[in-house]
Amino acid sequence: MNLKSLTLPELTTLLKEQGEPGFRAKQVYTWLHKGVRSYAEMTNLPQSLRDRLEAQYPICPPQVARKQVSKLDGTTKYLWELSDGNCVESVLMRYHHGNTVCISTEVGCRMGCAFCASTHGGLIRRLEPFEMLDQVLFTQIDSGLPVSNIVLMGIGEPLDNFDNVMRFLELVNSPEGMNISMRHISLSTCGLVPKIDLLAQKKLQLTLSVSLHAPNDAVRNTIMPVNKAYPIEELISACRRYYEATSRRISFEYAMINGVNDTEEAAKELLRRMKGLPAHFNLIPLNHVEESPLKPSTRQAVARFQKLLEEGGITATVRRTLGSDIDASCGQLRRKHMK
Ligand code: SAH
Repeated sequence: MNLKSLTLPELTTLLKEQGEPGFRAKQVYTWLHKGVRSYAEMTNLPQSLRDRLEAQYPICPPQVARKQVSKLDGTTKYLWELSDGNCVESVLMRYHHGNTVCISTEVGCRMGCAFCASTHGGLIRRLEPFEMLDQVLFTQIDSGLPVSNIVLMGIGEPLDNFDNVMRFLELVNSPEGMNISMRHISLSTCGLVPKIDLLAQKKLQLTLSVSLHAPNDAVRNTIMPVNKAYPIEELISACRRYYEATSRRISFEYAMINGVNDTEEAAKELLRRMKGLPAHFNLIPLNHVEESPLKPSTRQAVARFQKLLEEGGITATVRRTLGSDIDASCGQLRRKHMK
């Protein structure tokens, strides 16, 4: 067990059971969430307690296995080596609205999307809550830049690691910890319908992003195997229920793939399907992944698609490409490292 995966009330209970006074937990919690690398740094704790905690609950911070900084825009990509030797990636992006870190939620992924570098090699294991928190903490420490926003859009499917992700959100949101507001967090899913319903019940103020990438089952089935379990109409219905339960507008991601999902007919079909659902579309020119036959749409095709959606009443923005000189899109660095 890692103490950094515990909430403050849980840590309080655990330390009280070990005979520690009530105020200890908050001291330990604060230190852990500042990103100390050992208990020796917890200078306001008695030496005996520091030694005992070090032996019982080693902190196991991740190591920087590789780091790449974009010369174009300062985007920084980290490959972290976890305590069991597995690696995951995070990306720090410097936006006007604040520094944003994109974190991984699993080592690998079992969703099998045809265009995604993270899913080659399948799912190795799910990340623990502290391993997600550490990506935010140590990105902030290493870069020296305060992180104000988090996106769960790195390696892995967050809703396939539901309980650990919910706990991570609670930790990173806690006032005694990093205190990052839910409104500054986005969670992206490929469309696990029952989990979207479960998330809706929690009524969190975060932004839900749904990776749609297709206007119908015929296209979606060919690029996203998850669609066979949860077809597009069921997914959109879940999105409608989510909106009803939370009043939060959903953001849809749409990777533009040449000749696959970027036609005029596709835009029109999408508009029909989305009718009445408040939505924002993020159009992402596909990042080409080695060995994949899928190619990005032309700039003209992206612009035409955007115009058609806007004319149909859906706001659509084309996502700015950051860090294109450093393999900044998800899974690419880990994949190279594994090779
Ligand atoms: N599993 C989650 C989150 C991780 S991926 C999900 O599917 O949403 C984050 C986003 O990047 C998703 O929208 C995903 O479909 C997209 N993505 C993956 N590979 C991509 C590529 N090569 N080009 C563009 N977008 C990609």
